[in-house]
Parts: sequence; structure tokens; C-alpha cells
Amino acid sequence: MAKYTGPDCRLCRREGCKLFLKGDKCFSEKCVFQKRPTPPGIHGAQRKKPTPYSVQLREKQKAKRIYNLTEKQFHKYYTMAEKMRGATGENMLVLLERRLDNVVYRMGIGVSRAQARQIVNHGHITVNGKRVNIPSYLIKAGDVIAVKENKQSLPFFAELRNAKVTNSLKWLEFNPATLSGNIIALPSREDIDMSIAEHMIVELYSK
Ligand code: ZN
Repeated sequence: MAKYTGPDCRLCRREGCKLFLKGDKCFSEKCVFQKRPTPPGIHGAQRKKPTPYSVQLREKQKAKRIYNLTEKQFHKYYTMAEKMRGATGENMLVLLERRLDNVVYRMGIGVSRAQARQIVNHGHITVNGKRVNIPSYLIKAGDVIAVKENKQSLPFFAELRNAKVTNSLKWLEFNPATLSGNIIALPSREDIDMSIAEHMIVELYSK
């Protein structure tokens, strides 16, 4: 499926929860889910009894949209997770969480995953001192993530230096003063603070 280009908060209505695709927008009244919490479309307000399939599908779509991926990109993580030891669903979420664009977002360098991806795409980020402009790059424990030295004076990053550290995650840290941070350990399921029922995604894909 092609990339969705419609209004982001329409997807909040679709998935029945705030997805924060545009950063803080979902906190405000501008998130259309606030006023119309029903699914979008002419029949959105009709109550339909969800089937097991539709519940699984919605869970998958929600996760896919949170990480801002296409079906093809998202499914790749299922294939990878399946080959790993342990629970496939959990492995899948950990892999998604290890994406460089997600890490940049988690460190607070971007307000949304979409913005973080753009920051990576534009070559503003280094991993262990080397520029990495691949958003899907998987980080490892011990990696040092930083804003590239010659980009640190850009107004966007300069402003970030004064930002309060709001990160409460155990697996990574970010220092606004140096615009760099490191991966303390790979995230575990408990570190991923999202209400995704990953087993439903596995059920859907393993059919
Ligand atoms: Zn929203």
C-alpha cells in the first residue's frame, strides 16, 4: 500500500486512540479524535460488532502507523522476529523500537517519529561518530547517537540545548548540552510504553 498522505489525526479516529503522529498535536483540541472519537467515514458512527479478524487488523494498523511504516516495511519486522529466539510479538516490538528514527524520537531530538526520520534522512545524525542517514538502521547496546558536529549550530538543534530532559526511559539517555546520547541497553517489552497487543499482530500474520 502507498503512503498515507491525509490528515494525521484522522488516523487517531480510525484507531480509536491518540497516536501522536504530529507530536503534541494530540494533546490539544486540534486532534479531531477529541471532538469526534468515532471512526472516520460516512458509516463511522455505526456500531459494528468487531470480528476477531478486525480486532487483529486494527492492532496491526495501529502499530504500523505509530512507527510510520508501510505494510511492506512493517511486515519485514515480523519476518525477522519470527526467526529470532523468544516471543515473536515481543521481538518484533523491540526491533521496531531499535530503529534509528525511533531512537532519535525517543531521545527527544524530534517531536514526532516523522520529524525524527527527516532529521536522520538529512544526514544530521551520527552513530559512534559516523554519519548514518538510514532511518531503519538498528541500534545496538553501547551505541552513541549524536547530532553531527557541523550541524549542531543549526537553530533547531541550538534550541534543543536549552530543552529540559524529559526522557524517563531506562534503556537510553540523552544529554541536551552535548546533543548526544547513548544506548544503555536494548529495550525490553516493559520499556515500550505503548498499548499494543503484539500477540494479535502475530496471530494476524501467522494465518
Ligand atoms: Zn491526534
